[in-house]
Amino acid sequence: MDKKTQRPSVLIIYTGGTIGMVHRHGSNTLGPVKFDQILDEVPELHRFGYNLRSIAFNPPIDSSNMSPEIWVKTAKAIQKNYNNYDGFVILHGTDTMAYTASALSFMFENLDKPVILTGSQLPIGTLRTDGKENLITAVEIAAAKQNGKAMIPEVCIYFDFKLFRGNRTTKRDSENFSAFVSENYPSLALAGVDIRYYKQFIQYPSNKGILNVNYQFNTNVVVLKIFPGINKDVFDAVFHIPGLKGVILESFGTGNVPTTRWLLSCIKKAIRKNIIILNITQCQGGRVVMGQYETSIELLNSGVITGKDMTSEAAITKLMFLLGQKLSMNEIKNHLTKSLSGEISE
Ligand code: ASP
Repeated sequence: MDKKTQRPSVLIIYTGGTIGMVHRHGSNTLGPVKFDQILDEVPELHRFGYNLRSIAFNPPIDSSNMSPEIWVKTAKAIQKNYNNYDGFVILHGTDTMAYTASALSFMFENLDKPVILTGSQLPIGTLRTDGKENLITAVEIAAAKQNGKAMIPEVCIYFDFKLFRGNRTTKRDSENFSAFVSENYPSLALAGVDIRYYKQFIQYPSNKGILNVNYQFNTNVVVLKIFPGINKDVFDAVFHIPGLKGVILESFGTGNVPTTRWLLSCIKKAIRKNIIILNITQCQGGRVVMGQYETSIELLNSGVITGKDMTSEAAITKLMFLLGQKLSMNEIKNHLTKSLSGEISE
C-alpha cells in the first residue's frame, strides 16, 4: 500500500521476452527492445488507480538467454523493493518462464507477497496481442488482498486466464495462447468475468519471519532423458563430465529405465562417487513410483532419489539450488524428496 495515497502498489519488472519484442529491420525475426515505458504502452493500467512503477532490465533478453545470474538480479530487484510494494509482476519470455518461476520459488523464504510472472505469445504492439490481458490481470492479481493480506503470497505464472503455481508449470505450446500447463496441481485462480481465487490450493506462509533470499546455485548438473536405444557411450560420457554433482534422470512412466547391466552399473558407480541422481518422469502428469515395476526397483535399491511429481523445470532448478546451499549430502537428498515451496505433492 502506498503510504501517502493509501492505494495498492505494484512494481512491474520487465526482463524481456516476446511481450516487448519488435521485428528486426525488415525481417521476420523478433528481438527484444528497451521498454522503459511499459505503462505508456498499456495506458489502461492507470484505470486501476494503483500506484504502479516499472523497471526494465538493460539489455532486455530473450528468455532463452536466462541464467542463474539473471535470476539473482531479478530476486535482488524484488528484495530491494519488497517493503514498498504490495506485489510484483515480472514480464518474461515464455521459453524459460517456468524455470525462472521455479528458481525464484526456491530462492524466496517467507514470501508473503505475490510475485507474478507473465508475458505473451504476440508482442504487445501487435493488434491481436495476448500481452495486454496477461499484463492487466497479472497486475490486478499482484495487488489483490483480503483482510489486509496478500491473496496470493506465492511465485506464480499468470497466462491465458489461468494462474498457476510457478514451480508446477511447464511450457506446453509455442503457438497457442494457452502456452502453459500445470498437470499435477490445480490452478490457483481463474480469470473470467471475475477473478476466482481457489484458496484451498493457495499456499500461505507458515512462519512470519522476514523475507530471506538465498542466492547461490551450483550449475554442475545435467538432464539425461532416457530413450529406447540410448547407448553406453552416451551414458558414460554424461557421467564422466568433470565436476558433475547431479543428474536428473528423465525416465519413462512411473520412473522406469531399461534394465541393461551397463546402465545400472554406471548409475551405481556415480552414486558411489557422491553424484546425486534424481528420477523424474518424462510424462507431463503423474509421478515417479520406484519399485512399482522391475524396471525401476534396481534404481531404488541403488540409491536413486525419487522426484515424485516434480516438473523437469522444478527438478533442475531445485537441484542447482540445493547444491548451491551449504548442506550435507543427506540434507540435499532429504530436501529433494520433500516440498520446499509446493513443488511436490506429498
Ligand atoms: N523467445 C521468447 C522468449 O522466451 C518467446 C516468448 O517470449 O514467448 O523470450
